[in-house]
Amino acid sequence: MVKTNFHTHSVFCDGRDTPEEMALAAIEKGFSALGFSGHSFFASDADFSMSEEKQRVYREEVLRVKEKYKDKIDIFLGIEQDSWSPPLAYPYDYVIASVHNLRRDGVFCPIDHNADLMLKNLEAHFGGDQELYAEAYFAELVQLFDKIPAADVIGHVDLITKYDEVLSIRRSARYFSMAKEAVRRLAKYGKPFEINTGAIGRGYRTAPYPAPELLSVIRGEGGRIVINSDCHHKDFLDCGFDLAVDLAKDCGFSSHLILTKNGWTEVPI
Ligand SMILES: [Zn+2]
Ligand SMILES: [Zn+2]
Repeated sequence: MVKTNFHTHSVFCDGRDTPEEMALAAIEKGFSALGFSGHSFFASDADFSMSEEKQRVYREEVLRVKEKYKDKIDIFLGIEQDSWSPPLAYPYDYVIASVHNLRRDGVFCPIDHNADLMLKNLEAHFGGDQELYAEAYFAELVQLFDKIPAADVIGHVDLITKYDEVLSIRRSARYFSMAKEAVRRLAKYGKPFEINTGAIGRGYRTAPYPAPELLSVIRGEGGRIVINSDCHHKDFLDCGFDLAVDLAKDCGFSSHLILTKNGWTEVPI
């Protein structure tokens, strides 16, 4: 498998390492390409999301690293755009579109900050009802291309299952019915879905997103995939890629998309 990753966070948002440290680690691991995808601005996450000014500096730094290591690796300048963020102020090589927050009772409920906060909001705004929470999530998710028309990749499509293992949550048949319907609707836009291993490196999950049930639907709809590590720490750049490839193959995929100088290109896994 050609090693690449297009979902990378750095010190410019909530990652641990600088873009240069990430690039050097990717070169060391034999990656052919690395794409940075800092978090777009979101007022409730002002401490780590990237304001317009921060994006300006982020862009300069990623472009500097791209030029410096151009003979060793292809670097791309992307962004992870949250569904509630304002429109992008700058052009990017690519956009990962993600839902990280639900809006309920006039407040934002972060999905993936930590399990305690998720549970607190689940109780306070959804009466502890996981299906109601999931319904709100998928209602937001299916609007992704209305809110982010420039989306190139659909990020972690079942992010709400991030804490399922640590909290011993079992998903119902109704949950899967809602999730599959959302995935079918998104597949019509023809953009790839991520297989995302980010929660493995961080110790929350032992399997990548999305669930095999959803990946099989993506395959059935003719959808395509991008294997990403949603990396926040250089040591985890290729964490779980073996599991992602197994999952993809089990669900009928034999290739995934990578970004090259000639655009998104299908390569075998
Ligand atoms: Zn994300
Ligand atoms: Zn991310």
